Formats: sequence, structure tokens, C-alpha cells
Amino acid sequence: MLIILRPDASTADRDRVVALIESLGYSAHVVEGTQRDAVAVVGNDGRVDAARFTALPGVDDVIQITRPYRMVSREWRTEPTVVSLSGGRSIGGPDLLVVAGPCSVENEAQIFGTARAVLAAGAGALRAGAFKPRTSPYSFQGLGSAGLDLLAAVRRETGLLIVTEAMDEEGLERVAEVADIVQIGARNMQNYALLKRAGRAGKPVLLKRGMSAGVADLLLSAEYVLSEGNPDVILCERGIRGADPSTRNLLDLSAIPSVKSLSHLPIMVDPSHGTGKRALVPAMARAAVAAGADGLLIEVHMNPADALSDGAQSLYPEQFALLMEELRGVAGVIGRRVP
Ligand code: PEP
Ligand code: MN
Repeated sequence: MLIILRPDASTADRDRVVALIESLGYSAHVVEGTQRDAVAVVGNDGRVDAARFTALPGVDDVIQITRPYRMVSREWRTEPTVVSLSGGRSIGGPDLLVVAGPCSVENEAQIFGTARAVLAAGAGALRAGAFKPRTSPYSFQGLGSAGLDLLAAVRRETGLLIVTEAMDEEGLERVAEVADIVQIGARNMQNYALLKRAGRAGKPVLLKRGMSAGVADLLLSAEYVLSEGNPDVILCERGIRGADPSTRNLLDLSAIPSVKSLSHLPIMVDPSHGTGKRALVPAMARAAVAAGADGLLIEVHMNPADALSDGAQSLYPEQFALLMEELRGVAGVIGRRVP
């Protein structure tokens, strides 16, 4: 970090900057210029808060040289993280993890029927929400605890891994008892109390990108989970708010190589929420695999017309089975595999 002083900064201003750097446990290196001076923070490991300097008298600008996150960065860990899951599955290695299922758990027949269909097509995990973060309070809010019981039963009977969302701190522990991967949704990406709790949950965390969040914001949110002791974070690109109403969100596939260059964490793509339209999902799923995604999250419903949430973007089971075949082909071309 480089703190640029104003041309009229006094020696006292400069000394105050140096003193603050030293009080934070780093050393300061003063760079004298002809018009103005600057002070470099030496030994910054990513934890220095720029805002501490911007407010000081005599400071003109603060330039970040070190990235603001640490444990999620490629500098911290050069090798990609492979998150091990139950049943010998993993994500982040050569094998892709395809997670599929309905948006919400609705009833026993619906969840078992969909689970069996996605299992037969080769999905590695079932994803369905028992607790649903809905934009409107009048939309279906999920079955809650009864939905978790159904997911636990599906897991017992089919052996499918379960991915399901925790919406708040109070519910996280109960969700973590059932889930193999705890999902934190887009709306909660910056719920820092929830992220900290997820850092102590003892289960891998699927962290979805907030709809207005940049890649750096996503990585900083992941840093919360890692810094609480949980290294098993899977990022998820699910589309950001765009200007074009022809899709629900703007699926940012460039986030995949961006994340890969900045971080060692695996990243999945959710083309269902990313487009909001069933017809667009297969193409974007194939593109995500081609762009290097480590996994996919795809909404599939036995009967999308009757779905209580996100029916319009849910694939029919037959479409999903066909897509899995196509994904195997795309993955093979880039030296990866859909098991
Ligand atoms: C979901 O996964 O069903 C969901 C609500 O997603 P997001 O948090 O990305 O909107
Ligand atoms: Mn959904």
C-alpha cells in the first residue's frame, strides 16, 4: 500500500502516517518526491485497512498494491483447492461436480422423483432449498424444517449428496446437520455474521455471488469463511444485475477465469438463475464448462409448470439427461471429466 501525501502536507502529517503504519505492526518507507512525498507500507499481508489512512490530514490518496484478501488468494496457495466431499466426491480437481435439483423442496413425491431422475442422469449432488430467500414475502417461502427432513430421507435412500441453503445464523446449524454442502445465497453474500458462522459450521460452503457484487467482493466474503477456520469454500457465479430485461440476470462467465487467476478456490456456475430461462440454460452450461468452471448448479423439476418457485428456468429431467451427455463431450475436449 502506498499512501500519497498532498503537496502541502506538513512534516507532522507525514510523521502521523508513519506512526500509524508502525502502530499497526508494519514498517514505513518514506519516498520523497519533488512535489510531494509518499509513504509505503512494508510487509502488508493484505490486512491493512486503507480507510485508516484516507481520513488522515495531509493524505491525498491511498494506492492498494497488495490485494485486500489473503487466504483466498493465489499468493497464499498456488495450487488449486480441491474440496473433498462425502462419498469420495470432490470439486476443484479434474472431475466436474454437477449439482442439480428443484429450486425448492415441495413435497415427498416431487423431491424423490427429481432426485432419482438427476441421479440417473449422473448428477453428483441434489440441490433443493428448504429455506427460500424470496424477493416477495408472498411467494412460497419453503417447507423449512420439514423440507430438511425430506432431504435427509433422500440422502439416506439415494446416497445423493445434499446441497441446501442456510438463510440465517439460527438456522445454519440445523442445515449443516443435513447438508453435505451449505449454500449461502446471493442475497446473503455479504451477511458477515452468517459467513462467520459458516466458517465454524464444519461443512463445505457454496457461496453465491451477490447480484451487485464484484469478483473482489465475492473473494472478500469467502475470506470471512476461511479466516474463521473453514478452508472448504466453493464459489458460485449466478449472474449479476444487468440492464437487459431479456434475461433474469447477466451471467458473467468471465468471472471464471478472473477468479481462477486471483484465487485457488473452486468456482461453479449456475446458469439457471443466471438466465432465468429454461431454453438458455443448456448453452450457458456448456459455455461455463468450456470456460473452466469446476462444477454446475442446475435447476431441474419433475414438472416445471407446477413448480412453486423458479419453474421457468427449471429443466425437464429429459433435458437434463441430454445436457449431461453434452457436458461430458465439452469436458473431454479440455481434459476434464463429468463422472
Ligand atoms: C437458489 O439457489 O435457488 C437461489 C435463491 O439462488 P440465488 O441466491 O443465487 O438467487
Ligand atoms: Mn431457484
